Amino acid sequence: MELASYADRAVHLVNTFDPYRRRDDLTTVEDARALLSRQGACGRLTSADVQELRTLRDKLRTIFDTADAGGQQQAVDVLNGLLEQYPIRPQISGHDGTDWHLHLVEGMPSTAAAYAAKACMGLAVQATELGIDRLGVCQAAPCRDVFIDTSTNRSRRYCSERCATRANVAAYRARRKEAALAGAASSAA
Ligand SMILES: [Zn+2]
Ligand SMILES: [Zn+2]
Repeated sequence: MELASYADRAVHLVNTFDPYRRRDDLTTVEDARALLSRQGACGRLTSADVQELRTLRDKLRTIFDTADAGGQQQAVDVLNGLLEQYPIRPQISGHDGTDWHLHLVEGMPSTAAAYAAKACMGLAVQATELGIDRLGVCQAAPCRDVFIDTSTNRSRRYCSERCATRANVAAYRARRKEAALAGAASSAA
């Protein structure tokens, strides 16, 4: 698995909280298990893991928000802090008769910490290889979901196809309304 792909763990963790609707999809151990299984991660989970993931989520949100607002140094500072808190611990393993392969987070103190180490490493790889300005926040208000712009022309503005469509429809309606008002104004003149 490519390191960069672990950045998805950061994105999906941040997006478990919707700051506009204040909807939180990470409050229970079951929620955490669902998040991890969507990312192909596993491990023993307790309420302490949930708390740790929620704290990590706030810091990751800060990284995306500040990067999106142009505060690259601040975003880097927060991410560097996380990389220090959650260092990768690589070990070569050949468990269950498999070929020798690399485990990145052996011996981490908790499942949340193992998830965090990979998420932060993946984010660091993407932020340096693509650019910190590729960390974005959805422009289709009120959605505030985050994303990583991997497009070749740095054009991504929305978290999803759904939000892109919603934004286009809203822009179209606004243009039509404007045209209708302009028409009414000219016929009244
Ligand atoms: Zn293995
Ligand atoms: Zn969105």
